[in-house]
Amino acid sequence: MSAVRELAPSVDRQRILSELRTFARIGYSPDGGINRLAFSRADRQARQVLLHRMRSLGLEPRVDAFGNVFGRLPVAREPDLPPVLVGSHLDAVPGGGRFDGAAGVVAALEVVAAIRQHGLVPRRPVEVVSFACEESSRFGRGTLGSALVAGTVEPEEILELRDARGLTVRRVLELVGLEPDRLALARRRPGDYSAYLELHIEQGRVLEETGARLGIVEAIAAPTRFRLELVGRADHSGATPMPFRRDALAGAAEVILAVERLAREAPGVVGTVGTIRVEPGAINVVPGRAELAIDVRSRDGTTKATVVAALRDEIDGIARRRGLGYALQTLTDEEPVVLHPALAALLERCAQERGAPALRMVSGAGHDAMQMARICPAGMLLVPSREGVSHSRQEWTPPDDIVLGTQILLDAVLHLAEHGVSAS
Ligand SMILES: [Zn+2]
Repeated sequence: MSAVRELAPSVDRQRILSELRTFARIGYSPDGGINRLAFSRADRQARQVLLHRMRSLGLEPRVDAFGNVFGRLPVAREPDLPPVLVGSHLDAVPGGGRFDGAAGVVAALEVVAAIRQHGLVPRRPVEVVSFACEESSRFGRGTLGSALVAGTVEPEEILELRDARGLTVRRVLELVGLEPDRLALARRRPGDYSAYLELHIEQGRVLEETGARLGIVEAIAAPTRFRLELVGRADHSGATPMPFRRDALAGAAEVILAVERLAREAPGVVGTVGTIRVEPGAINVVPGRAELAIDVRSRDGTTKATVVAALRDEIDGIARRRGLGYALQTLTDEEPVVLHPALAALLERCAQERGAPALRMVSGAGHDAMQMARICPAGMLLVPSREGVSHSRQEWTPPDDIVLGTQILLDAVLHLAEHGVSAS
């Protein structure tokens, strides 16, 4: 029934790999990996290269007040229908890898390149996006560009965030020629886009271990994070008999094991204590103070809330039994995001048609798709990360898997451009 689908155009492997190499060189050093922190010189250079690529593909590029880059394919049979949006991000963590974010932007560029090359005229417009400041490395908070677009954050909530050098978001935007006072204009509304699709590397090793070459994201787990301070008494380790002690670190050890146990007992929940600080920190002193960072995630908000409540009780009990004081500060408490089931089904079908084994999964890492899901149906396709390594220059995805993922992305975008989400 669909002419576009029967043509089933192939993506161009060489073009994909060459574009990946282009972006991999921006901000790269052989020993340091990719340094393309949001709004840095390298990040802006990547944006310029992207704009150039978009123009040469015949897209109409647009940069919004926050530096999100959009490029719309001007040919569509019904140009007034909401576009299908496809993309990811180009900023990187310090010393990051070449695939995180960039793979999704390159795949999106290939989608429009293939449409152009094969002379297809989709029914709905297709639009490529690279969201700004997806990584939390600079301002301690991620997916800022897509959050502004989706309206899940107000400009005032982020303008005063500071980077490690003390520069605010407002100042940084001014310095790079963007428009902090016009951020509200970046916002898009429900109905502005038909759908959002993103290809991303997995950043874990589930695909590799199961032998699937593609992951289809059903939900994005969201973290609840705490800082816990336990306060006991620093005493001489020789002169203080055991019954007299109020050892903050021994209490912390119980808390760490409680986090592990509660997470293990709840299906789909992961719990981590990633940092610990002990004072005074001497071999001959009973620890008087311990500070922990606790991170709990799940695809399911209710299960996560149950685990968090149980953890609060445990902490209270441990502190009471040991005579410790404590302060539990919530750093973030985000709701997990369920991506659109029709898009997951579409991606799965597209993978099947290409004979590729795909695995439905939950993304443990946050992505722009979780913001876009608030204003349009959103879907995500994951490609394997070798040994699960990411945020490192060791990051690697086999070229064949990138090409395959891009093909599935193209198939899905063409389907959506013709039929929209409801019919998929
Ligand atoms: Zn990413």
